[in-house]
Amino acid sequence: MKLKYITKPKNFMAKIIAFIGKPGSGKDTVTKILREKLKIPLIVVGDLLREEVEKGTELGKKIAPIIARGEIVQDEIVAEIVKKKISELKKDAKVILLNGYPRTPKQAELLDVDYVIELVVSDETVFERLTLRRVCPKCKRVYHLKHIPPKEDELCDVCKIKLIQREDDKEEVVKYRLKRFYNEIEPIREKYRSRNALIEIDAEKSVEEVVSAVEKTIEKIQGGGRMKMKMIYRVLIGLSAGIDAIFPSGAQDIVNSISISVGREIGKELKERGANKDMSIKEIFNMLAEELKLADEFEIAEKENEIELKIKFCNVCPKKVGGYPIRKTACPVGGIIIGILKEVKEEDYSPVPELIPGEECKIILRKEV
Ligand SMILES: [Zn+2]
Repeated sequence: MKLKYITKPKNFMAKIIAFIGKPGSGKDTVTKILREKLKIPLIVVGDLLREEVEKGTELGKKIAPIIARGEIVQDEIVAEIVKKKISELKKDAKVILLNGYPRTPKQAELLDVDYVIELVVSDETVFERLTLRRVCPKCKRVYHLKHIPPKEDELCDVCKIKLIQREDDKEEVVKYRLKRFYNEIEPIREKYRSRNALIEIDAEKSVEEVVSAVEKTIEKIQGGGRMKMKMIYRVLIGLSAGIDAIFPSGAQDIVNSISISVGREIGKELKERGANKDMSIKEIFNMLAEELKLADEFEIAEKENEIELKIKFCNVCPKKVGGYPIRKTACPVGGIIIGILKEVKEEDYSPVPELIPGEECKIILRKEV
């Protein structure tokens, strides 16, 4: 039977996904479409700062004159405002999208995000997208001389007046914006790349294609903590810490297996009581509960296509169970007693950072159909 790991502990925290990209890479368009399509919260940092000013909050009062002078708000203040918004949203969300942060390495230090998605476009594309953009000064309609040209030469189709080029879209300004991007973003990229949390999406493609690629990435993140979270795991009965007590050889070669790890001592005990590799996870749990009097620590419910495990302790706190020391083995699922066998890297399916030691953790394994 194959089981799929599908739930996270109840105190699972929302993942923060930040978008970076050169000017003209489509961050605004793509994130807004995703917010509507997936109904997930999106923080647009520019809008958030303006909102804060309008509401007249303490921070808003601090930044109002800075914004009025057209200056850049200090990283510390921006970080504080964004953090405040995140804490409001994170209770109800699995993921939160962030557009416009981090903009500087300092910001990336002040507020650490979980993933960074970069919409990757070449410099040529940036120049083409931005410097050929024109707007109608009256109705604000946006044109592109190559892709959405006006019917008549540089005149608004509706207002029939001459289109203008925004200051930000002028070649010199675009050059400057790109230069700033390279200086500020490169260290941020490196930071997240080194921890495998930078996801690069080819944004040369159509908006629909980019949205769909990002959507798939978000789904993966929502499904769990790490990109490979949705792997199917075979549940091996058994006792990874005490695995060699039950399986003298061979078992360690099995990859992609979750095993119930109860520590070597309990493993030996179970073996003496006749546990074997053909037992189901439920039988193992019953044995733990009934024979080893650990019923208070485990609860298992088998439904039609799900097995629900509730585990009340975790080896983050070195609590003794039934007189047996729980080994402090690396635990991928909430620091509790589920262990992994060799060759499955912890990061492959570790979604669970925020388990509170000793708190109940619920895990549902869904049978693969
Ligand atoms: Zn117009």
